[in-house]
Order: sequence, then structure tokens, then C-alpha cells
Amino acid sequence: MTRAFNFSPGPATIPEAVLRQAADELLDWRGTGMSVMEISHRGADYAPVIEEAQADLRTLLGVPSNYKVLFMQGGALAENAIVPLNMMRGKAVADYVDTGIWSVKSITEARRYGAVNVIASSKDDQHPELNYTRVPKQAEWQPTRDAAYVHICGNETIGGIEYQWVPDVVAAYGTDTPLVTDMSSHILSRPVDVSKFGLIYGGAQKNVSMAGLTFVIVREDLIGHAHPLCPSAFDYRVVADNDSMFNTPPTYAIYLAGLVFKWLLARPAAIGRPDLTPMAAMELLNVEKAALLYAALDASQFYVTRNVPEDRSRMNVTFTLRDDALTMPFVQAAAAVGLKGLKGHRAVGGIRASIYNAMPRAGVEALIAFMREFERTHG
Ligand SMILES: *Cc1c(COP(=O)(O)O)cnc(C)c1O
Repeated sequence: MTRAFNFSPGPATIPEAVLRQAADELLDWRGTGMSVMEISHRGADYAPVIEEAQADLRTLLGVPSNYKVLFMQGGALAENAIVPLNMMRGKAVADYVDTGIWSVKSITEARRYGAVNVIASSKDDQHPELNYTRVPKQAEWQPTRDAAYVHICGNETIGGIEYQWVPDVVAAYGTDTPLVTDMSSHILSRPVDVSKFGLIYGGAQKNVSMAGLTFVIVREDLIGHAHPLCPSAFDYRVVADNDSMFNTPPTYAIYLAGLVFKWLLARPAAIGRPDLTPMAAMELLNVEKAALLYAALDASQFYVTRNVPEDRSRMNVTFTLRDDALTMPFVQAAAAVGLKGLKGHRAVGGIRASIYNAMPRAGVEALIAFMREFERTHG
């Protein structure tokens, strides 16, 4: 069996070592004679799985002690409703920055629960070729006084733009308006100062685990203000008080996330850089991979990138072929040589190479070699 290089945006590639370990222990988990997915989430055998996963995530991100790590369900799209249901806290308006398709989904859902002000946007209807090719600068924000929170999408998985900076919400609003961030597609790809955020959330199926698990990291003082109609399973107070086990959690997805966390903790030693933190090691590797791919794109007239260089995503590299008729042949020929999942999102077309933590540098190099050969034969 040869494993393909999987460039899918999500569900996405998982470290091969993690899959091998999961396969090895699938039928008999730690001598129980049962699969981890068959055992009770409330039993003594399972408790260390969820506890260690939460503790390891805290270690990896340096989560301060006044934050809760919650494991939930429903993905980032459910969280688009769960966030306003918990975070409006009786206030009139929530602020959102619009950087693309995932921001728009968050905004549209939030409007069902309260007033939303879009305080900055990189949408440009007048110049479609410039639409969502950048992240608005904080100087462009028009903050609402006393907004309940301000929401950004840290990495636009479809458009391929990413914040390379953390907004200074204290400067923009004072201390009562927390920063809420959808980190679905770049959590754990770089160091992050969690204390700058009120709430971080995302679906696990990009850079953490398999589908079915939502991670939420929330500052404690923001818990306990849910709207009376918020479902109990989505009330951060209820989830926190029940240690993420108000209902049956996605036990296998949490187990798999735990294996990924151990894999991440071991990365600095594995790459011969025990001096680095795991997140610094991942950032180093991710910067290298992205730089290789963007350099190849920039060197070519055959492939076109639109996003402004300083806001380019390290995780989702989007580009088009100058001759769009060659897009599908490119995707098919790549798949035929084991480079899978390169078709761009149906809303924007083109090509998207998702190069999350689990994508080895060898996969990026194989893609670049394929791109050169495709250009040579079709250019
Ligand atoms: C994938 C993705 C989502 C949607 O996540 P689901 O888990 O499918 O709800 C939302 N936001 C971003 C940034 C994403 O990448």
C-alpha cells in the first residue's frame, strides 16, 4: 500500500504515525479486549483519554489557567450559533470582520441571534479581481461602542488568506469586548498567545483530528451568560461544569486528537530541535512548506496567485491556472500520481493545496515537481 499525499481541506490528512498507532490498538485498547470506541465515556478506562487530551492541548497552546478547554460537537458551523447564544451577554450588537466565505457564514448565522455590525471587510464588489485577497488592517476597523464581542476568522480556508497578527482589541474597544476567533483551519500550526482571545473555536477535522469534534477555548468570566433558549448541550456553563461530558462526547475523535497532541509534543525532538516548543517547531516547518510552494507559484506565469503576499495562508495555498480549461486536467493528473484533493472549493474554483501540520515537506516537494512537469507539458 502506498499512501497518497492528501491535500484535502477537511476532513484532512492525519499523521501516518497516528493512524498506524490507532490501527494497532483498534481491536484491543490497552489490554481491555475492547476498542476504545466501544468503552463507556464515564468509565475509569476512558477518563485519562479525555483528561490527557485536554491537558496536552493546554500545554501545546500554553492555555492560561483562567480558560476552559471544552470538547463539543456540531462543528464550527454550529458554533456560529453557539457563540452569540453564549456571548451576547445582554448586549445589543456583536462586531464581525469579513474576510471571506467562512466569515460570511458566521455573520449570517449570528444575525439570527442579535444585531451584527460588519466593522471591516475585504470584499470588493467594484473590483472582483481584488475580492477577499487580503485581511483588512486594524486601522480600517470601525468598532461599535460596547460591542458584545468582535469575531474574526483567523484563516479563511477557502480563500487562502490568514491573519499573521493578532488584533489589539483592548486598543480598539477597551477590556469589555473580547476577541472571538474561528481557528478551524490553523489551530496548532503556530504559537498563539491565548490571553489575547476571549474565545477560540473550531472544527477538529482540519488540523487536530477526525470530524465530529469541536474545540472551544474560552475565558472563564465569559462562561455563564447563555441566552435562556440556548440548548443545554451548547451552554458553555453546562459543558464546562460537566467536563465536556454533559452528553456522550465524540469519544473516538477525542482519542485520535489525543494521539495527534502526543505526536505534536514529540515534534521538536523528532526534527532534532529539542530547543523549540512544539508550536515553534510546527511554525518553522509550516513556514518552510508554504514558502517553497509560494516561491514555485511566484516563479511561474502558468500558475496565478491573487492574494496579497503578507496575508497568504500557510495552511491553504490557493491558485489558478492561467488557462482555466486546464484546471480539471491538472486535478485529475495530480490525483493519478497520488496527489489528492487539490480541487479548489466549488465557490471559487481553481486549485487549493491544504498543507496542514500532517502534510510532510515531501508532499509539498512532490506537488511542486508535478506542477513543473505539468507546466512543461501543457504550457
Ligand atoms: C471547515 C471550516 C468551517 C466549517 O466547519 P464544520 O466543522 O464543517 O462546521 C468553519 N470555519 C472554517 C474557517 C473552516 O475551515
